[in-house]
Formats: sequence, C-alpha cells, structure tokens
Amino acid sequence: MQFPQALETVLQTLERMRDETGHRPCASRMALDALNQISSPRKIDSLEGHAPSCPKNNLGADPPSRDYGAASSAAPSKTEKTDKLAAVQTRVSVCIKCPNLASSRTQTVFGVGNPDAEIMFVGEAPGADEDAQGEPFVGRAGQLLTKIIRAMGFPREEVYIANVLKCRPDVPAGSFGNRPPTPREMQTCRPYLMEQIDIIRPKVIVALGAVAVEGLLGTRAPMRELRGRWDSFNGTPLMITYHPAYLLRNQSPSEKRKVWEDMMLVLERLEKPISEKQRNYFL
Ligand code: SF4
Repeated sequence: MQFPQALETVLQTLERMRDETGHRPCASRMALDALNQISSPRKIDSLEGHAPSCPKNNLGADPPSRDYGAASSAAPSKTEKTDKLAAVQTRVSVCIKCPNLASSRTQTVFGVGNPDAEIMFVGEAPGADEDAQGEPFVGRAGQLLTKIIRAMGFPREEVYIANVLKCRPDVPAGSFGNRPPTPREMQTCRPYLMEQIDIIRPKVIVALGAVAVEGLLGTRAPMRELRGRWDSFNGTPLMITYHPAYLLRNQSPSEKRKVWEDMMLVLERLEKPISEKQRNYFL
C-alpha cells in the first residue's frame, strides 16, 4: 500500500472512532507538523482542527467541541474557505468508507456554490443525474430548487448546495430510480458534511426533506410535524422544508405554498427585504 493511502486509512479509522465514541483523537503539534511535511492528497490540518486544544502528554483528553456557525473566532476569507473545501473534496473523491457505494458510483458529488454563502441547502444523496454530472441537484428536483432559490432573490451560485451523502446509493443492476441512503451510510458520510458546514459557516441551513433532517439531526418524524419551524444545528439556525422531489410528486398548490412560506422565514431571518410580489408568490 502506498503511504498516502495508508495515511488515509489511519485518518478514516480515527474519524470513525471519533464518531462512534464521541471522543476526538488528539495529536501533538510536532506530529501534525511532521505529517504536514509529507506529500499527501489529504490535508492534515483537518485533524488539527478536530483537536485544537489537545493538551501535552494527555492523549486521551477530549477537547471542547466546536461551535459550528459561531462568529466568535476570526472569520476566514473566501479564499481560505475555498482552499479548505477543496482539501475536503479531494479526500471525499477517494473515499471508500462505504465499499459498495465507492464501487458503484460514477463519481463523488461533493457540493456546489459559494464557499462564503449565507444559506446552505442540504439534501439527502445524489441521484442518477447527479452521479453522472458530479453536481448536486441537477435533475428535475434540482431545477425546481434552482427556481426556488432564484425566487428568493439569489443566483444559484450565491448559495451552497450539498447532500448528506456524497455517493449515490447503489441500486440493483438493471433497476431504475434511486433509493434513500441508510442510517449507517449517512452516519458514515456525515463528518464530511460537518466539515463543509464548519468551513462555510452559513447563517442559515435549509434541510430538504425528512432524510436530510435525519442525517443532520438524527431525528425521524413526519415532515408535516418538522417543517416550517426553526431548529438548530450546532448553533446554526436550521429551517426544515419539503424536498423539491416531493413537490414534483405532489403538485398541490397548498404544499408548494408551504415551501415558499418556509423560504420567506429564511429571508426574514437573514433580514432580506421581501417584496409584495415575493409575498404573493406561488411556486
Ligand atoms: S457515501 Fe461518503 S463515506 Fe460513503 S464512500 Fe461515499 S464519500 Fe465515503
């Protein structure tokens, strides 16, 4: 095995231990500096980021958790965010933590949009179109999401769009359609989404559909009970609304209106002006 792959295996194991036990691995500054000298597709600063205050000679210590979305630490520049996201994307592109998905995918689907976005939309997983094109929300549901974003007053490029899962859930050979990700798949891939959110630091996250809510919050409930109210993801305001694919299946104007009302709550939260035309808008 080549050194970079061996290093990736070690890092993935540490991440799994962190996710399963809740304890974050620590490394000394000397060890991190030594690892950073080594050419690797993986940036070790992500490990450092998980253990910013690892005390000397206390490898079992559990450092304080990060406050995602908090504005207290110095705000990184857009360029820094772009570089950090690119480093995570490189790791995702070679990830084989879910062997069945790694072998069936055409490519990973990381995320797209402004690294400095105020709003981050999170869906469940790539479908066939996204797997083919390498970009989230590019099929019919994606076109509807783009329409919603534009109606809110943003170009699609101005927000950030990602999924909980970065690989298309595999389906039996010869079958059509997509399947939802399993809880285990979402748990395995969730650290990448956490990193994306941690880097982007959006002011608002919008969870699209019940599966995205489960991936983000670990909560299962009917969407009629979840949507339309503010929740929180590690300190960042989280709005839950229907997945655009639901609106394609259910063309009821009242359901579409609910999504639009949820988006107006997002605009209000961001203190964006809402025109009369927007208030009366129906998707
Ligand atoms: S779904 Fe996520 S964790 Fe699983 S192989 Fe793909 S990138 Fe890795």
